[in-house]
Parts: sequence; C-alpha cells; structure tokens
Amino acid sequence: MTMPTDAKVSTSGGRRGLLIILSSPSGAGKSTLARRLMDWDPTLRFSVSATTRAPRPGEVDGQDYRFLTEPAFKKLVADGAMLEHAHVFGNFYGSPMAPVQEAIEAGRDVLFDIDWQGAQQIRNSVLGRHTLSVFILPPSIPELRRRLVSRGQDGPEVIAKRMQKSWDEISHWDGYDYVLVNDDLDATFERLRTIVTAERLRRPQQPGLAAHVRRLHEEFEEGTTA
Ligand code: ADP
Ligand code: 5GP
Repeated sequence: MTMPTDAKVSTSGGRRGLLIILSSPSGAGKSTLARRLMDWDPTLRFSVSATTRAPRPGEVDGQDYRFLTEPAFKKLVADGAMLEHAHVFGNFYGSPMAPVQEAIEAGRDVLFDIDWQGAQQIRNSVLGRHTLSVFILPPSIPELRRRLVSRGQDGPEVIAKRMQKSWDEISHWDGYDYVLVNDDLDATFERLRTIVTAERLRRPQQPGLAAHVRRLHEEFEEGTTA
C-alpha cells in the first residue's frame, strides 16, 4: 500500500504528526472505520488504549487494548502517563501518552478511537492544536441497536446500557471538526479518507513548503536573468 500523497516534491520534511480522533455512540461504526483507515495507510499509528474492562472474545492484549486492573490503571493516571482518561460504561479507559508523543515527533499521525470526554481533554491539552476530530453518527437509533446486536460481542444487559448512554455521546456531536453519518460504510469511509487527505495538505502540515518556494524563487530569478 502506498502513502496517500500526491507529492512528487517532498514538502513534508520535519512535519509533526496529527492526532486523529474518532468518536461515536457505541455501535455506530468507529472501530470499523478506524480499521479501514489503518489498512489504507499503514504509516498511521493506532493509539492502543488502556482499559479496566474485560477483553471481548478475539480481542488481543496490547493490540486492541491494554487490559489492566483498576489499581494498575489508576497508577498510570497518578504517574501522569495518560494523555487523557475517562470513565465509560462503568470502566476506565485512557490513552497512554508516551507512544503518542513518540509517533507525532517522528511525523506520524496517530488514530484515536475514544469517547467525547477524551476528545475534549486532548483538544484542551498542549497537543490540542494538532488534532483533527471526527464524530460518527448512526443513520437512526433502530439501526444503532441493530448494529450493536449484530456485532454479537455483548450480552443484552451490556447492549441496553450502551443504548441508554448513546444519547449522552451523540449530544456532544457539535464539538467536533467533522461529522459523518455512517449510512453506507464504503461511502462513509471515502468521506473520512478525503478529510484526512485534505487535513494533511494544510499549510502548517507541510513545513517543507517554504524551502520548496525558496527553490522556485531561485529558479524564477535565474530564468529572468538568463
Ligand atoms: P463502534 O466501534 O462504534 O462501537 P463497530 O465498528 O464495532 O462500532 O460497528 C458495530 C457493528 O456495526 C459491527 O458489526 C460493524 O460491522 C457494523 N457496521 C459498521 N458500519 C456499518 C454500516 N455503515 N452499515 C452496516 N453495518 C455497519
Ligand atoms: P468499547 O468498550 O466498546 O471498546 O469502548 C467503549 C467506549 O470507550 C467507546 O466510546 C470508545 O471510543 C471509548 N474509549 C476507548 N478507549 C478510550 C480511551 O482511551 N479514552 C476514552 N476517553 N475513551 C475510550
């Protein structure tokens, strides 16, 4: 898979990575979209959250989440090792700081699948101006329920709890840079890919541009004096 850039001339040297945040009510499709983004661009780094919730069947420790006990989670928070953290559906979730800092300093974008509380904390952090936040809405509430059930990973009680909380998450939709209604998955992914591509082309994301324009100027001057 090639990097999604049209740059024949490198204008991205010395670039700092973006923090790309996806949020949605549970079941709207953000993990599915996050996986597609990772497949599209393997240079993206996924921020593996720490959580005190139990692993679902098939989830791999260190890959989907870092599954921790509550004391171990609280120690990371007390040590200042979390970029953000929140209590969601009765469990703690948080984004460890070190891998994020390492990636963005190396110029790699980091992808977060986190709730509105985490998104708000990151926006208000020192890294706030490097964030791109996208909220995913379901096409309808019955369809949200259908997706939670068809995912087949949670029992009826957990699904009911997630449905009950869905309005709380949806009510924060207007704090995000972009909002997508995830009706057709392929179409939604195309829109998401367009957003990421465009954000990467913003002027501050291409620090190498100034040097490129200086070279163009030199060539221009040589051309006019020749
Ligand atoms: P979230 O991470 O937001 O909780 P998931 O990505 O796990 O949600 O998606 C929940 C379920 O809905 C999964 O079974 C997924 O395959 C399905 N799904 C995601 N997007 C769509 C879509 N646009 N149309 C139909 N089903 C979808
Ligand atoms: P799940 O249990 O379905 O994996 O996640 C439940 C909710 O917690 C989802 O909305 C998910 O985005 C959110 N979440 C996952 N990791 C984090 C995290 O590190 N921080 C915050 N604030 N929320 C998270």
